[in-house]
Order: sequence, then C-alpha cells, then structure tokens
Amino acid sequence: MFKKILVANRGEIALRIQRACREMGIKAVMVYSEADRDAKYVKLADEAVCIGPASSALSYLNMPAIISAAEVTDAEAIHPGYGFLSENADFAERVWKSGFQFIGPTPESIRMMGDKVSAKQAMIKAGVPCVPGSEGELPDDPVQIRRIAKAVGYPVIIKAAGGGGGRGMRVVHTEAALINAVQMTKAEAGAAFNNSAVYLEKFLQNPRHIEIQVLADKHRNAVYLGERDCSMQRRHQKVIEEAPAPGIARKVIDKIGERCAAACKKMGYRGAGTFEFLYENGEFYFIEMNTRVQVEHPVTELVTGIDIVKTQIMVAADEKLPFTQRDIVIRGHAIECRVNAEDSFKFTPSPGRITMWHAPGGPGVRVDSHIYTNYFVPPHYDSMIGKIIAHGDTRDQAMARMRTALLETVVEGINTNIPLHRELMMDAKFVAGGTNIHYLEEWLALHKG
Ligand code: ADP
Repeated sequence: MFKKILVANRGEIALRIQRACREMGIKAVMVYSEADRDAKYVKLADEAVCIGPASSALSYLNMPAIISAAEVTDAEAIHPGYGFLSENADFAERVWKSGFQFIGPTPESIRMMGDKVSAKQAMIKAGVPCVPGSEGELPDDPVQIRRIAKAVGYPVIIKAAGGGGGRGMRVVHTEAALINAVQMTKAEAGAAFNNSAVYLEKFLQNPRHIEIQVLADKHRNAVYLGERDCSMQRRHQKVIEEAPAPGIARKVIDKIGERCAAACKKMGYRGAGTFEFLYENGEFYFIEMNTRVQVEHPVTELVTGIDIVKTQIMVAADEKLPFTQRDIVIRGHAIECRVNAEDSFKFTPSPGRITMWHAPGGPGVRVDSHIYTNYFVPPHYDSMIGKIIAHGDTRDQAMARMRTALLETVVEGINTNIPLHRELMMDAKFVAGGTNIHYLEEWLALHKG
C-alpha cells in the first residue's frame, strides 16, 4: 500500500480524501492555492504545498506545479478528486510518466470516455443500451444529416463530442431548424472544447437521471454498487441525489448494473466510475460515463457500507476488490443535499466570510464539508461548500432525518440554498418520489418565478 498520497483538489472532496488516507494509515499531502491557505484540510495536513495563485488555471489546473509538489514531498500517488484535472487524460498520462500512480483509470479509458462519440461506440459494443441516434459523428452533408434526424425522429438533440458540464447541446424540434442548429453547435463546440465534432440523438421528453456506480480492479473484477437517482437538477447541475431510485424494481437495476460491470471487464476499466443513464418508460439510455469519484458518492456509501474512496486507493495500488457482487447489499435509503454558497432562490453566488456554522448531527446524518466558523468562502471556485447526507431504514425515515438536519443547520454571514432544500423536502411530489429531470426547474418557475 502507498505510504503517501498527494491530493490534487480542494474543498470538501480534498477533506474526504484526506480522511480516507488517515483511516488507511497513509500520509496525505494537500496542495492549495493562495486563496485556500486557511482551508481546514490544509491546517490538518501532514504536509501542504502551495501550488499557485487563486486562479485555478494557475493552481489546481497547473500540471507541472502539482507534479513538482508530488516530487518534493515523495508522494507515490496522486488522487485527482472530481472536477479540475480528474478527467484529463493528458494529466493522468503525465502523472504516470513522472513515475507516480494516478488514482483513477488509465489515460486510455479516460480519453475514450471523455469523447462522447467514442464512449457511446464503446458502450454499444459492450451491450450497454444507448439513446438512439447517429452512429458516431455527424457528417457534413446536409442531406445526410436530415436523413439521420428523420430516421431517429424529432425532437432530436445535437451534442458536442467533447462537451461537458451541461454545455454544447441544442434541442431541435423541426427539420427546418436542423441544419442551422448543427452548424451553431459545431462552431460553439470548436471554440469551447477545441473539437467541433457533434452527434445527434433522440431527445427524450421526460426522463429521470439514474446512474450506476461501479468499482473495478486491475485483475478484471468489476462490481456495481446499485444506482443513484439524480433527477433533481437545475441547469443540468445536480441539487439532490438519492439511493436507491424510488419506484424502480431491484431486478430492473440488477439487469442494467450487470451490463455496466460486464462493460468494465470488457474495456479493462479500473477504479471507480459512473455510468449515467436517462430512464424513461422503463428503459435505460446511456448518456455518458464519469471516470472519477462523484460528488454524490456518499449516498451509495451509506446504503452499501462500502467506502468508495478507500476502494479507489486500494485498486490503484493494484489490490483486488475486497468484495464480490454477492457481498453487495442495499440497506435502507440515503439522500444528499448539496449546500451551495448562493442566494436560495435567485442562485447568485454568495462568497464571503461565514460568521457562524453549526453542523447538524444525530443518527444517520453525515456532513461532508470543509467549512467552519470564520471560514472565508473564496469567490474563485464552485459554489458548493458541503453536503448533508441522511440515511434511514426507509426513504421516509431518511427524509425525516434530512428535514431535522436542515432545521439544525446554521450558516450565517453568507447565503446558502438550505432554505430551498427545506422547502423541497416538504414538497408533495418530491416526497412521493420519482420526479423527472425537469421537475425542479418547473417547481422553481411555479413557486419562485
Ligand atoms: P454533460 O457531460 O454536459 O453533463 P450529458 O450528456 O451528461 O452532458 O447530458 C447532460 C444533461 O442533458 C442530461 O442530464 C439531460 O438532462 C440532458 N440530456 C442529454 N442528452 C439528452 C437526451 N438525449 N434527451 C434528453 N435530455 C438529454
């Protein structure tokens, strides 16, 4: 096992990884930008290295600075967390070439999944169901494009092969709007992702977002850890996640989960990963694979009892998965609320000094957050400042615990979206379960518009 790992991230996930390392008796080197000098995990660190100024381009995305930090501290492996360089195949490659282990899949896997066209092709080959659409990249010929769209059936969605973070997509309802939309998406994709390739798929009208968590080792073992329902989204950003997905039978999940695990074996995938699907009328349609730990991993940890971050580290050290599919049992229900430093209903960012922080607690409540009283939320990064996760024997109990936790939580000095979470936990439709990906935006338009 490693003796020392460098954590190439910030915020709650940096603290989460530091905690996993401590539990495993591994030293964690924390890197930080000048804006994160006072972060809790930096103060708690065995070792910490400043890697640059506040701007992420010069710090958390600065590959040479991160690799030098690993060199000077004698770290053996680098954990990239999520966001930043976590899905950058070139970074993974540089980490390997510099003689360190990258805690994640191989650069080849990251590259394949990072291009949505090649990812989809790999899935089709591995028997994972996809959204019907163009076979690969769209050609230039308008006649052919029209023929493809017609065969798929309107509405369709044009998506950039290199897209991410909900950008580089356009919905088309009629043939008249098609060619212009393709050209605009191509131009935008070229500018934003340096890759103008686009593809087309059927636009699903009212799907849910259901994803399957997988873990795989170098020895061709792969398991799935059930599903998460992440349908509560605003602008394609997840706000609330839960496991299991309300109203979907276990045997339906097992069937798709087995396909995902089999696909991992077939692709020689290793590490943690998530297969994201849209789910409509009882069918799953693959949209993308994330090749890293996700923000919402705690709900899966709570219902399976498996530590995903520790397992990532174990398999990166070439160990075998310490469990098989048969050992994985889903117990109870878990819900996660992402806490953002932003106005509750207008969503404008609200960085600044936290003058008071009281974390909730009690049975079944977990808080993953790096904040503290007198912590200054820097304006340079994502607005998420932590996550409150509640676990119960049933969904009702998990929700009741979440309501209590949200009532106990105090954040003063900045605005947060906790008032939004409090209202959503009382909303009859959300409480009933099974809302689709448009529900939150419709709810906001109706109640807060
Ligand atoms: P990104 O990598 O930018 O997150 P995804 O492919 O994961 O892109 O899609 C993000 C979101 O866009 C989905 O969660 C869904 O809300 C919407 N979306 C993507 N493809 C489709 C589709 N074929 N039909 C309907 N909605 C879609």
